[in-house]
Amino acid sequence: MPDIRLKAALFICALSAICLFLWLISGKTVALVTFSIGLLVYLISHIAWLHRLHIWFKTPVLKDIPEGSGVWEDVFTALLQYERNNITNQTQLSSALERFTLTANAIPDGLVILGASNEIEWCTPHAENQLGLALSMDKNLPIVNLIRDSHFIAYLYSDDYSEPFKLKSWQKPELVYEIQLIRFGANQKLLICRDMTQLEKVEVMRRDFIANVSHELRTPLTVVGGFLETLGDMQGAIPDAIKSYFGMMQEQTNRMRRIIEDLLTLSKIESNVEEPENTEIDMPRLLKQLQNDALGLSHSLYKTKHVIELEIDQTLKVTGAQSELQSALSNLVSNAVRYTPKGGKIAISWHRQNEQAVFAVRDTGIGIEQQHIERLTERFYRVDRGRSRETGGTGLGLSIVKHILIRHQAKLEISSEVGVGSTFSVLFPKSRVVQTLQLK
Ligand code: ADP
Repeated sequence: MPDIRLKAALFICALSAICLFLWLISGKTVALVTFSIGLLVYLISHIAWLHRLHIWFKTPVLKDIPEGSGVWEDVFTALLQYERNNITNQTQLSSALERFTLTANAIPDGLVILGASNEIEWCTPHAENQLGLALSMDKNLPIVNLIRDSHFIAYLYSDDYSEPFKLKSWQKPELVYEIQLIRFGANQKLLICRDMTQLEKVEVMRRDFIANVSHELRTPLTVVGGFLETLGDMQGAIPDAIKSYFGMMQEQTNRMRRIIEDLLTLSKIESNVEEPENTEIDMPRLLKQLQNDALGLSHSLYKTKHVIELEIDQTLKVTGAQSELQSALSNLVSNAVRYTPKGGKIAISWHRQNEQAVFAVRDTGIGIEQQHIERLTERFYRVDRGRSRETGGTGLGLSIVKHILIRHQAKLEISSEVGVGSTFSVLFPKSRVVQTLQLK
């Protein structure tokens, strides 16, 4: 049928052209009329095809696409091809989407995608269970409306997602989750929620075990140490022949007591979930005291004093737990003394850097090789065991420092060069900085 119509159209066009030609050379009206009729038929045939195209567009089913003829055959063939490609792409896309959803749902961690205003764009069923969300109802709601934990909100609005954050389930407090935020795309965030309940239980067991063992050992050691001291004080109680062994016994007992005290301090700090108190600490005064203690330690270890300098911003203070921060900073200063040979120089500085307050101890000591720096805050990690022992070390000092600083949202930075010296810096966050009025 379409072919007949095309042939008819072509025939009419040819006839019209002849008529037009005849009219031009003869001037007969009948030729002009015939030409006009031909043109009209030609136009009607195009309008008919356009109409069919329009009808098809209303319900574009692939199998119902008209075949067309002439130029319309090309148009409909191109349309057919385009539709076929479209359908293939759609099928591929929806199967990729399905695969992605299946994979994401199979991940045991909960995943949530947050938009630019922290609204929930999408989440997996695991995230719904863990965080008490329901995507069907909560889509596009700000996540802070649904997770109201103040620490979570502070973490979300902080710019620093380098460390994960621990969140206790508010529905079942025995469940502990680790939340990690990752920025991606156009100001979006991926929230990963991992169930840490089992690991947390093991961690608590480990802490309890160390605390219990340390407690159990402390009493007998105190008794042994006490007897050794009494014996040492008794004139003639220790025969000369065993005096050196007796001295070693005393030394080792003291070392064990120091280790146990440090282990107890560490487990106390680690298991303390309470926020540290927020006392305003008079840092200039505290640092002066640390300087005096360091001079005392220097004298008792080396029988001579190191040069210990102070560079302090007298107007700068921080808030925190006085005893904890004193213990952490004193640990860094005493390390500088212990790992700096006789005659070395130690500079303690306290200043403001942008919005943070920075405490730094710089020494001209033995220095630390780069590969050790990352591991220094691990329990019992020592670069030189001999030197650590000789100077009364336990290998726990920097672990204690690390945990105290975590509790105060402060950071420890270490830079060092072997044979040149080391700098241990503590960076206190803006929220803990107190800048008093300028002193006259
Ligand atoms: P320790 O009681 O052994 O000093 P710490 O935890 O305080 O334990 O320190 C861990 C290790 O870090 C030390 O054994 C030492 O090797 C190294 N260290 C710490 N401070 C310094 C320093 N200022 N200079 C060189 N090495 C240091």
